[in-house]
Amino acid sequence: MEEARNYIGGSWRQPTASETLNVLNPATGEVLARVGLSTAEEVDRAVQAARAAFPDWRRTPAVERVQYLFKLRDLLEQHFEELSRTVTLENGKTLEEARGEVRRAVENVEVACGIPSLMQGYLSEDIARGIDELMIRQPVGVGAALCPFNFPAMIPFWFMPYALACGNTFLVKPSERVPLTMVRMFELIEQVQLPPGVLNLVHGSRQTAEAILDHPGIQAISFVGSTPVARQVYARAAATGKRAQVQGGAKNPIIVLPDADLESTTRIVADSAFGSAGQRCLAASLAVTVGEARDGFVPAIAQAAAERVVGNGLQEGVQMGPVISAASRDRIERLIGQGEAEGAQVLVDGRGTRIPGGEGGFFVRPTVLSEVQAEGETFKTEIFGPVLGLLHVSTIEQAIELVNSGQYGNMACLFTSSGAAARKFRYEAEVGNIGINIGVAAPMAFFPFSGWRESFFGVLHGQGRDAVEFYTQEKVVVERWPKEWSRKF
Ligand code: NAD
Repeated sequence: MEEARNYIGGSWRQPTASETLNVLNPATGEVLARVGLSTAEEVDRAVQAARAAFPDWRRTPAVERVQYLFKLRDLLEQHFEELSRTVTLENGKTLEEARGEVRRAVENVEVACGIPSLMQGYLSEDIARGIDELMIRQPVGVGAALCPFNFPAMIPFWFMPYALACGNTFLVKPSERVPLTMVRMFELIEQVQLPPGVLNLVHGSRQTAEAILDHPGIQAISFVGSTPVARQVYARAAATGKRAQVQGGAKNPIIVLPDADLESTTRIVADSAFGSAGQRCLAASLAVTVGEARDGFVPAIAQAAAERVVGNGLQEGVQMGPVISAASRDRIERLIGQGEAEGAQVLVDGRGTRIPGGEGGFFVRPTVLSEVQAEGETFKTEIFGPVLGLLHVSTIEQAIELVNSGQYGNMACLFTSSGAAARKFRYEAEVGNIGINIGVAAPMAFFPFSGWRESFFGVLHGQGRDAVEFYTQEKVVVERWPKEWSRKF
């Protein structure tokens, strides 16, 4: 059976750890491969390789560095279908959804190819007579990305292409639950013939991540995962003086106003709540109806949930795949039960799902809970499954208050045909990503993937210019050249 290998210093190595985990196909429960949990020594080897590669790599002109990314982009395009299939196999999302995330990975490579202009500094002549001042951007050193299971292809690409293009060297630690996509990506990366040590792949779980966080040879950490882990990661990175961009969990509300178009709103909200089986940090997980919006929306969304085609994501026509593991399925089912116990009504119940041919898989059908209590677990807890909770209020002010009362601030969306309502919402909602008649407000690669409150710890986000700023440090130079200065101008 395949064992996911590390890629360190330009060669493939089997993790030496005695401990290994099974990588499962969530649609069937079948074991796809095993993954070793790299030790602190293996992390150290990768960091030493990255450190050794850094001096030469940072001196490589940016226009040359991006040539590797152009080649990588072409390879990703050539292997697009195969990469998407690997994502579906180990993560469970549908092939269409997998294609969407591989596309965003490619787009991030494309944006990072603009580094020669994106990382330019600026200069002011004559800040005093004969004295000039300039700001230049230099790489920070060695960076590392610690990644979650839900986007095995895309999330490392929010960081890696920018870090590399800016002249840093880098380590990627994929989620131990979905290591195979990155193995395949690194086989392609190997073909672009980067200098050894510039990009490294290290598999593992918590202990491996902690060894990365504690390593004094690493200067920058990019993390994406759940909020409880994000808090620990932010503190641990800071303890060793690293810069950190740390993205956490989410609980995304959408508001439906009475003037929203019912048909398209229902379709878009269903796609947001149940797409990727709800395992998206931009999934709608609460829908707040205002005034008479409830009358049409509640039966329509319940019908959309009940009609969703659930099955193996590789099969044509399937609209929703399984969740990642049996433990995740059991947790989601428990949280549905808890919502019910707190007084919510289960309009559509996805518990106990059996899929013909997918008996070993981890399926939960779309679930809709109405009359969710604003103090209860269904309102507060990130369920990370295909569960939509419904609440009802009388005014948009009350709806915005609900949006702003939660712990998270990743995304909020408004469905309306009123420009004034949209502007008010955009202005007042305390979240980092806003959708207006959009259900998954995922920023393009040239915008930051924002996130506020407990959905993000740090200042600079992933993607685009934020990633460039994060992976460079500013140096300000004030220059006076005595000979010229003493001359009369
Ligand atoms: P997770 O927090 O369990 O794991 C994320 C990563 O952290 C993995 O690589 C894991 O090995 C590592 N890890 C686990 N425990 C650790 C610890 N104590 N210290 C250091 N590292 C540790 O997250 P997950 O279940 O893989 O992913 C789902 C979560 O990610 C959800 O909460 C989701 O909302 C969030 N997410 C957020 C965004 C965003 O942009 N904000 C995007 C995608 C996913």
